[in-house]
Amino acid sequence: MARIAVASFRHETNTFAPHPAAMADFETGYSWPGLVRGEGMPPAVKGFNLAVAGFIRRAEAMGHAIAPLVFASASPSAAVTEDAYESIVAIIFEELAAAGPVDALYLALHGAMVAEHLEDGEGELLARLRQKLGPKLPIVVTLDYHANMSQAAVEHATAITGYRSYPHADMAETGARMAQWLDRHLAAGAPRQARAFRQTPFLIPLFAGCTMRAPADAIVAAVAEIEAETGVLLTFAGGFPAADIADCGPSVYGYGADPAAVDAAVARLAEMVEARERDWGGDVLGPEAAVARAVRLADGACRPVVLADIQDNPGAGGTGDTTGLIRAMADAGLMRAAAGLVFDPHVATVAIRAGEGAEISVALGGKHAVEGDRPLAGTFKVIATPDGQMTGSGPLYKGARMDLSPMARIRLGGIDIVVVGKRVQAADQEFFRHVGIEPAGMKFVAVKSSAHFRGHFQPIAEAVIDVAAPGPMAVDPAALPFKKLRPGVRLTPRGARIGG
Ligand SMILES: [Zn+2]
Repeated sequence: MARIAVASFRHETNTFAPHPAAMADFETGYSWPGLVRGEGMPPAVKGFNLAVAGFIRRAEAMGHAIAPLVFASASPSAAVTEDAYESIVAIIFEELAAAGPVDALYLALHGAMVAEHLEDGEGELLARLRQKLGPKLPIVVTLDYHANMSQAAVEHATAITGYRSYPHADMAETGARMAQWLDRHLAAGAPRQARAFRQTPFLIPLFAGCTMRAPADAIVAAVAEIEAETGVLLTFAGGFPAADIADCGPSVYGYGADPAAVDAAVARLAEMVEARERDWGGDVLGPEAAVARAVRLADGACRPVVLADIQDNPGAGGTGDTTGLIRAMADAGLMRAAAGLVFDPHVATVAIRAGEGAEISVALGGKHAVEGDRPLAGTFKVIATPDGQMTGSGPLYKGARMDLSPMARIRLGGIDIVVVGKRVQAADQEFFRHVGIEPAGMKFVAVKSSAHFRGHFQPIAEAVIDVAAPGPMAVDPAALPFKKLRPGVRLTPRGARIGG
């Protein structure tokens, strides 16, 4: 039996997004719990589809003891403030000191964290921990599929693995997989691990990295096959393409006892990713063209057409309040339509005060000066004002207990809009059900999400249309004003088509 210290510190940083992540953003929580340290951490994350929850559950089942340090996660946004980064790192070190001697440290990180004062949030944290704990103590890490990996992170960890699905249905499973790996590693006497790391020479647009479509489906299948064949702990990271840092972009990395086997496995997978370069794209339509196509597809269909507002995904640093797609839906006179989640605590509060059945004249969303976007002014009918407390049921958020208050359902023409007080990606049908909307019963459903929505909405959809309405998360990374990216990286995969 081993004693394992466990910490989770996660942020996906869109350096082009308008709002930073301050300490209060980590303390509040959103779709995941707010900051919790020490003994309170395991019960706070229990049952969630989180790597840290999966790790704790599996490690305890194998008879290991957990020394919980902290869980800290904030909604994707611009850089983590220096104060928040240093405060949370200090908590990790304080709790580690208080925990006393441990046999290993497990960290559930994201992999795409940028702080105001440093580009490589995870690499820096791992470097500091390695210095403090010495070269021998196993430090194992799980990362998001959207990690922007650095050489420092690869070097300072004993081993790292990442999610293999986007939508991330496998977050808890990834933590469990790492618990299993660590168990074998400790039983073997913690042998030195060789490592290999290869960055892909192009960025992958966020929506195109979805593993429910080609070529990502084949890549993640190959990860498991090569791993089974070689015994190398192997990961493909799709990268997070909205970070103006040297190490932005996809990568392949691996760990194992045999250096030659690790090198070969990483090279083999990386070559597969690069050989499919032209396939990392897809169809995306402007809002008017998308709505027109949706109307055609909905004709005679008994299932909803889902419109994905992929340039305003709060799960990628979007403001969650742009209005271009909803405006196009209203202009086209769509009926039996639902749209969400629109982040506008002010309008939600006005709706709650006015009460169900009332009419409110407000300017919805559009409050973050996003280029090409503006508030949607009008008279909305208040349909429902529930308390905003719900539990997710889809592949991503299953078991996640959330507070999206203040929350309201307001109607404009034939469109019912779900307005919330937290920036959360519309990846779960429960967000709609909580205000009395059954998504499968609608003709059109608009969601602010890049790909996570597909896990819960694609199975009920007649069709899914990716829409590029004005928003802060550019669908084509080439539209972003990069300055710090390492030389030679192509912003758009060569030969890939991103458009209608
Ligand atoms: Zn991700």
